Formats: sequence, C-alpha cells, structure tokens
Amino acid sequence: MRYISSRGKAAPVSSAEAIKAGIAPDGGLFVPGEQITVNNPERLINAHYRELAGEILKLFLPDYTDEELRVSINKAYSLEKFDNPEIAPVQSVSENMHFLELWHGPTCAFKDMALQILPHLLKKAMEKTGEKAEILILVATSGDTGKAALEGFRDVPGTRMVVFYPEEGVSEMQKRQMITQEGNNVHVVAVKGNFDDAQSGVKDIFADDTVRERMSAGGYKFSSANSINWGRLAPQIVYYFGAYLALLRNGRVKSGEPVNFVVPTGNFGNILAAYYAKQMGLPVQKLICASNQNNVLTEFINTGAYNRKRSFVRTISPSMDILISSNLERLLFEITGRDAGKITRWMDELNNTGSYSVDSTTAKTVKDLFWSDYADDTATVDTIKQVYKDYNYTMDPHTAVGAAVYKKYLASANDTTKTVIVSTASPFKFNESVAQALINQNDITRKTEFELLELLAEKTGQPIPRGLRNLDQKPVLHEKSTDINNIKKTVLSLI
Ligand SMILES: *Cc1c(COP(=O)(O)O)cnc(C)c1O
Repeated sequence: MRYISSRGKAAPVSSAEAIKAGIAPDGGLFVPGEQITVNNPERLINAHYRELAGEILKLFLPDYTDEELRVSINKAYSLEKFDNPEIAPVQSVSENMHFLELWHGPTCAFKDMALQILPHLLKKAMEKTGEKAEILILVATSGDTGKAALEGFRDVPGTRMVVFYPEEGVSEMQKRQMITQEGNNVHVVAVKGNFDDAQSGVKDIFADDTVRERMSAGGYKFSSANSINWGRLAPQIVYYFGAYLALLRNGRVKSGEPVNFVVPTGNFGNILAAYYAKQMGLPVQKLICASNQNNVLTEFINTGAYNRKRSFVRTISPSMDILISSNLERLLFEITGRDAGKITRWMDELNNTGSYSVDSTTAKTVKDLFWSDYADDTATVDTIKQVYKDYNYTMDPHTAVGAAVYKKYLASANDTTKTVIVSTASPFKFNESVAQALINQNDITRKTEFELLELLAEKTGQPIPRGLRNLDQKPVLHEKSTDINNIKKTVLSLI
C-alpha cells in the first residue's frame, strides 16, 4: 500500500517516506492509497492498548516489520511514560456518557498519544529509506503539540527540532513546559502573533524551494510533527477502537451497537482519526465536532462554507484557537471520491481569498457524518461546574467544550446512543479555569497557577501529574522570540 497526495501531483510513496516527508511535495497531505478495513475488531476485546496499537498500525504501515512496530509501541506506551496502566482509560459517568481520557502521558494532553511514538516511527523511516541527512522538524503549536513533540524528540539522534508558539496564546503551564525543555537538539521560539501566524510561517518554509536547497546543502531535510504528518494520524485511530472495546468489555454496549464520539476540535486531526476508524468498520453513529468560539468548523459543517475571515478569539481552551484546520483537507479528499482537482481548487481559494464553499453533495455528506456546535468561555466554565456537581468528574476546559456541545446535541437530536466524550487534557494543565469553576473565588485570587495545582489536588482528591510538578523550579532555557515576518530567518539562524 502506497500513500498518495490530496492534491494529486506527487508520486505515491511508502508509509516510511510519507512519515519522513511530513507533507507531500505538491503541498497536499498524504493519505492511504487504499481503503483499509479491520476484520472483526471485536476479536480484540481483551487486547491491551499496546497489542491493539500493533494490530491497527500494521495495516497503515505495511513496510514496517511487526518487530519494528512492537519495539516502537513498547517504548512509546510504557508505564514509564504513562501514569495509567490502560494508557487511554474510559471513565463511565452514566449509562450514556463516557469519557475517553487521552492525557495520561508525560505532557498531560492528548498529543502524547501520537507524539510518543512518532519519533520511533520516524527514526525507523530514516533507516529504511537510507536517509543520510539530519531531519529538521519544524513545529507550530497552539500549546500542547510543542511540549509533546519536544519530549518525544529530545536527544533523538539524527533529528533537530524548532518549535514556534504564540507568545500570548498559551497558558502559563504550557509556556513553562516548553521554555524549560531540556535536550541538546531542540529550540523553542515565541512568535509575536497567533497560532495561525505560526502555522502559516512554518508552511511557507516547507514550500520555499530556496530554503530547501540551502538546507539540503547543509545536510538537513525538513519534516513535520504537526498533524499534517500521517505518522501523527495513524496512532490516533487506535484509541477509538480501544474506547469501543472497553465499552464492550464492560458491558456498556452490545456487540455491534454504534456509539457517538464527541471531539473537542481545532486542527481537525483528532476527529479525523475517528472518521478513519469509522471507515475501517468501527460502529460509529455520529461524529460530534465541538468548537470553541473560533467556530469556523461549526459553520462549515452546518453550511458547507469555510470562511476564516473572522477575528481570532483567545479563549480558555487555547489548544483549539485555530481558524485554519489543516486536516479538513484529508476529509474532503476522501468524501469527494478522492477528487484532487477539487481539493486543489478549494485550498487555493482558501489561500487566496480566505474562504471556499463545497458543492452540495459534499456538504450533505459532511452533514450526514458530523454534527457540530460550539461553546463560549462562559458555557465552558458552567459545564465544568455542572459535570463536577452531577457526576463528580473533573474536566479541563477543552473537554468541557465537548461536554457543553454534547448537551446541545442532546437538546437538538434527542439521541439515546451511548456517547464517548474525548477528554483531551488533564484538568491540572489548565487549572486556572478549572479552579475558577470549582473553587471559591476568595481562595484563588492572587494565586499563581502553581499554587492552584495544590488547591485543585485537594479539591478533587487527584494527584498532581508528574509532568506538571515542580515546573516553577526548573530553569528557563529558551528565551528567543520572533515577529511573524522573521520565522524563516530564525530557522536559518538556528542551524
Ligand atoms: C490539540 C488539542 C485539541 C484539538 O485537537 P485537533 O486534533 O487539533 O483537532 C483539543 N484539545 C487539546 C487539549 C489539544 O491539545
């Protein structure tokens, strides 16, 4: 099986080459060249996460041996890295409402699920393809990808990494996690702009032939650890199967009974993995796309028109503060019957005018698969409060956006399908908003985020995650910043 580009102008490549390149040379995104199905997923009902990962990943990475996958999986999903033996446990709070917790990895957000394994897959890819150049990984982050990628790639031989984060667009915890990062192959740079500025800056470098030539003369080759890299997407498909099998094992669903997934969404990577799981044969009823106030996807799903010409809102769910959702391109490619011409036209239009509209058939397909709404900050905090009160379950603000949108879905659709809300970050990672929802105002005024960690641990009876403890005592190692026009120059100066 080869990987093909969503823009149709790049030669098909092996999975190792797709992972190494990150983005296709024609500017498109790689997708599997064939439909992949899982034969009788229920046979894996008692499989551990690591075994399940092996079964799913080998379908997408046929040029990796079982042994190579096994070694990568064991290193990534170990108890040294994850603080829960199930890796991605499901917490059931009622008969119909279940949380899939994806934040038990080292950086306390769901990005670890893919970024713990991506470095191993990439290193193998370099060996398999005889790569001699050093791989330079450029990352634009809305806060969580950066730290997860830094942890995953620190001191990995043959790789170097530069992470760009929006200076004013991340939480104190997220920023601290990044600027204290150790490792002698990593750089962290603040961008005076928002996430879209950082992502566009990085995409421009990938597309710049002169820069690429200079890099290659210096012995470097670019790759990406953002979810435009297929090596990020494939590992995310695993936990959708895992969640379903956990519900089946615990008697929460019957064999073959479809479930809904609610996914707090920004770059459309996580929910796209759910779509692929459905295409592979997982019984899924509705994919519910939850946006925050940057609700460009909600509008798209409901109208078929994508319009990024709106003001960028800074919210309390900063990892979803995104107006250009890159992975939507993959979905559109799949549901138009892989019409690369159409995709190229729409993406050019988005680039040139800031908006595009899909045809009515495509818009209808989107609506059949997805349901979408959004929650603003007030609704998000209220939902943290309410779910804590009703179920004694503590959510971070991203997960709470999901829960708030699920409530709207129930009001609109009257659907009794069992539903899994994807919990994308630990409440400790975004403790300011969580404390605001759960703790008396008097007790939290003038407290730093580090003091709030203690209060929140007391209130919820949960331990402070390893990755967030003592962050305030670590030395700051990265103080560089750049304005949005100098991202390219910064990269050239760092290597
Ligand atoms: C990245 C992230 C999201 C959004 O995921 P996408 O794949 O970009 O849609 C949601 N919540 C958290 C906590 C995240 O880190």
